[in-house]
Amino acid sequence: MEKECTVDTFSEEETKALARTIARYLKPGDVIALEGDLGAGKTTLAQGIAKALGISGPVDSPTFTIIKEYEGTLPLYHMDVYRIDSPEEELGLEEYFYGDGVCLVEWASHVKPLLPDSTLWMFLTVKPDRRSIRIRSKDSRWNSLMKELAAR
Ligand code: ADP
Ligand code: MG
Repeated sequence: MEKECTVDTFSEEETKALARTIARYLKPGDVIALEGDLGAGKTTLAQGIAKALGISGPVDSPTFTIIKEYEGTLPLYHMDVYRIDSPEEELGLEEYFYGDGVCLVEWASHVKPLLPDSTLWMFLTVKPDRRSIRIRSKDSRWNSLMKELAAR
């Protein structure tokens, strides 16, 4: 059954704290879809997750490379698929989505048909005083995370 929760963050640091919480639940093969306007905080979340996975170097937006790979406690694939218009042309991405690493996908709706059903979707909205982050998945795989977030 589809589960959903919303977390509000009032600073970049709070968004990184949310990322750290999520990172504790990550397993090989997980995909996190990040949606939201430019500047909403997608890369900030990715940076927080990368750090929590022990990746020490800088993690910047992979806008021009589409994909950047990092080796942490799990392999991390940070993607920005903004420039992809037709998912059928990008068959190579599925190897990552169904692989043994963790995928963080900015602008994931551009490749929605390729994403696993177990994808954790995060929708970031900019409000005057906060980022409102709606988190949702069809898969019970994320229930314990949802439970922890709802109890915050
Ligand atoms: P995106 O990847 O979605 O384009 P970025 O993460 O690169 O966005 O940028 C988000 C910007 O918004 C950063 O400059 C960050 O400091 C700022 N910011 C302000 N408030 C927040 C917040 N609550 N969460 C995340 N980023 C925030
Ligand atoms: Mg970005």
